[in-house]
Amino acid sequence: MDGLKIAFVTPESVPFAKTGGLADVSGALPKSLIGLGHTVWLFMPKYKLVSETLINLRPVDIGFAVGIGDKSFDGELYQWSDPESGLEVCFIGNDYFFDRGELYRNPKTGKDYKDNDKRFIFFCRAVIKACRELGWKPDVIHANDWQSALVPTYLKILPEDGLHFNKTHTVFTIHNMGYQGLFPAEEFPGLGVDEAHFYPEGPFEFWGDVNFMKSGVFFADRITTVSPTYAKEIQQSDEFGKGLQGVLKQRSENLSGILNGVDYDQWSPEHDNLIPSRYNINNLSGKKKNKLELLHKCGLPIRMEHPLIGMISRLDIQKGFDLLEEIMDEIMSLNVQFVLLGTGDEKYHDFFALVEKKYPDRFKAFLMFDNKLAHLIEAGCDMFLMPSHYEPCGLNQMYSLKYGTVPIVRKTGGLADSVIDFDEDNRKGTGFVFEKYHASELLAAIKRAVDLFPRKRIWYRIIKQGMRQDFSWDKSAQKYSDLYYRLTDER
Ligand code: ADP
Repeated sequence: MDGLKIAFVTPESVPFAKTGGLADVSGALPKSLIGLGHTVWLFMPKYKLVSETLINLRPVDIGFAVGIGDKSFDGELYQWSDPESGLEVCFIGNDYFFDRGELYRNPKTGKDYKDNDKRFIFFCRAVIKACRELGWKPDVIHANDWQSALVPTYLKILPEDGLHFNKTHTVFTIHNMGYQGLFPAEEFPGLGVDEAHFYPEGPFEFWGDVNFMKSGVFFADRITTVSPTYAKEIQQSDEFGKGLQGVLKQRSENLSGILNGVDYDQWSPEHDNLIPSRYNINNLSGKKKNKLELLHKCGLPIRMEHPLIGMISRLDIQKGFDLLEEIMDEIMSLNVQFVLLGTGDEKYHDFFALVEKKYPDRFKAFLMFDNKLAHLIEAGCDMFLMPSHYEPCGLNQMYSLKYGTVPIVRKTGGLADSVIDFDEDNRKGTGFVFEKYHASELLAAIKRAVDLFPRKRIWYRIIKQGMRQDFSWDKSAQKYSDLYYRLTDER
């Protein structure tokens, strides 16, 4: 079968710019798709960070302008080729919109940029215009999250764009329903589409606001999300669908879940250059050395006989921090040590700073973003905690499995699809799973793990069952590839 031409559109991608799991996916999936014979061009904004760090950026000699309201904004295109994978990265430039300190929010105020709607209207229209200017006709445009959702939308409702793309199909992947791109209704004219499209049952209107994600769900040929369980959950209730459950249900036949993969080149203890001691399933001695190193870095006393629990996360209520708040004292009363790495909600910063003060020999919080430390935590901890309220896929539990760091997770979304609860009777399982979003259930799961930790034969069995799991991207990329071929065959 001939490979397809795929435009992968994303607001963030490793190694250029990252705020969360979407960047990991965007860094890995396109490369796996190339491995399957496709040609992939990745489109993303040229943020300040990109301009500052990337050498060999090639300006492309095309010009285009995007009208937003009564203003016109010039766009530039820069390309960069990955010599290893053959990935072509197309950076959409406009310094007014993208030459800023952070991706989505003002670092000074901690609040979202007020013109995020305009920034991503610009980005989406620019992607379309750049393809046209280059005379490049992708077979599939794969857009990700609300920041790219307007690409499938514009292709369906702006006829002049449609002409160039009459053989192009669209896939829209939702990485988190909690971020839909909501803006006040008075900003709607900026989209440049007919006001007639703005009505409650229509593609944009959402309780009086404009909703970018809703339009993607409306107009994309296929919708995917990042785990099979989350694909079901988001259609079932407001709790997961965040108000879009009805629209998602209407598109049920065209909606599916594909579990994210793991980039094992980056995240496996055998190849990890960011950790002090590498190890593998047959020789775990390096893991102990990493634990020592990590305890040292935390300034915690060395208590190898006590399990070290790790957590790496955005500090957001989604991730279950309200449960943790309730039972932190109980957890600290167990014979455990705990290291947390995260940034986000101010109230959790304050909370964890207090916990650290209260339990200086047991708890350490690194309230920052630090990729290298994230690797050390995965490698050095014994257990990893993800008590998420909802979790579209989650990556850290899959990293943890590979690093022999036993995950304790809530049974939701991708956590339910990747961690198997340990069953003492048949000794099968890869972690500890609890169902109800309840602090007592979380505590019970932690206690189960802590009680088993000294029983080394069983504990190593759990570790090894986890390390044998394979969530490599090859499998998931094949599923996306099948989806693209089904779409293009339907023509
Ligand atoms: P989400 O996308 O909801 O934030 P995921 O589990 O899908 O959650 O992905 C989060 C990614 O971001 C993981 O690669 C995780 O290691 C990383 N990460 C989150 N917070 C930090 C942090 N403070 N420092 C370093 N890496 C972090």
